[in-house]
Amino acid sequence: MSLPPLVEPAAELTVDEVRRYSRHLIIPDVGMAGQKRLKNAKVLCVGAGGLGSPALLYLAAAGVGTLGVIDFDVVDESNLQRQVIHGQSDVGRPKAESAADSVKEINPLVKVVVHNEALTTDNVMEIFAAYDLIVDGTDNFATRYMVNDAAVLLGKPYVWGSIYRFDGQASVFWAEHGPCYRCLYPEPPPPGMVPSCAEGGVLGVLCASIGSIQVNEAIKLLAGIGEPLVGRLMIYDALEMNYRSVKVRRDPECVLCGKNPTVTQLLDDYEAFCGAVSEEAQEAASGSTITAAELKSWQDKGENIYVIDVREPNEYEIVSIPGAVLIPKGEFLNGSALEGLPQDKKIVLHCKSGARSAEVLAVVKSAGFSDAVHVGGGVLSWIKTVDPSLPAY
Ligand SMILES: [Zn+2]
Repeated sequence: MSLPPLVEPAAELTVDEVRRYSRHLIIPDVGMAGQKRLKNAKVLCVGAGGLGSPALLYLAAAGVGTLGVIDFDVVDESNLQRQVIHGQSDVGRPKAESAADSVKEINPLVKVVVHNEALTTDNVMEIFAAYDLIVDGTDNFATRYMVNDAAVLLGKPYVWGSIYRFDGQASVFWAEHGPCYRCLYPEPPPPGMVPSCAEGGVLGVLCASIGSIQVNEAIKLLAGIGEPLVGRLMIYDALEMNYRSVKVRRDPECVLCGKNPTVTQLLDDYEAFCGAVSEEAQEAASGSTITAAELKSWQDKGENIYVIDVREPNEYEIVSIPGAVLIPKGEFLNGSALEGLPQDKKIVLHCKSGARSAEVLAVVKSAGFSDAVHVGGGVLSWIKTVDPSLPAY
């Protein structure tokens, strides 16, 4: 299925532009007309992180006339392993500004629009409306569903990508011509079931593999060439080194783009829709949450406690709270960890940020350890308030 180009061509290319883009211009499928379309195109990249970095660099180099970048975060040292649009001297700077500087350095002919803010239900419709195409480089389900809903409601196509460890996926969602993200994933995964890259890690170069697929698809859509990745999901396995694509059909029952849609505007709260933590976990944590500083003072006073880190072994190796025993969350969910727990000590659970430990707390409490607690904010809070000399990750 080929689709008509998304944008009309610009009136002309300057002499400088003809020189700069000559390797595009001599490709018959791109040519002068295609390059003029890129010049006229307005593309928004959501996130200047792992996927946004290569995407923005290549969109800029390709001559996309207007590039928007939205990110509320600042560059952290742990980003530099994969977020190649930022450099050492950018650590601490807003990502959107750092990315904009790199784009201008690569191609001063690109107009960059910096959105140094979080994408929210209050601004997403207005921001998206100003662009022809969106490249989604977000790393969390709440934003992903919001991006999808806004794009469908506005009738805009977007190029989606996702990465985890050695596995990547990409697709183009455009409800006018194919399925939307909700057709593929009608429900967000249960909270805590799918680890994020911050929890599970990601091979840095995987970002380039998936980000470049996203740019490839963006260029095809803008110029109206080739077979777009509409209605297909591309799955990349970097360890096996294979790509396969599976058909994704539009779901006639889709709540957003189906025959009888029930979602006709943005949801009020995407965080709640994706459930930061489950109801059981919230209930278990209520009144049973301590701070990292409290844990430290319990340890200093020699309280009779048993501290359990429910993260994964790799995370434990990077940084751990002194005295904590590693028992990954999965061993609680399958029940195997329960019988080994000491009956005569108070159980103190923690993870990286407090979400996984709250889930485990619900399991532990319902197994009879009613005085168990978890550490709000987890290791991150420990590093911040107790021992800033530990490496943040
Ligand atoms: Zn749909």
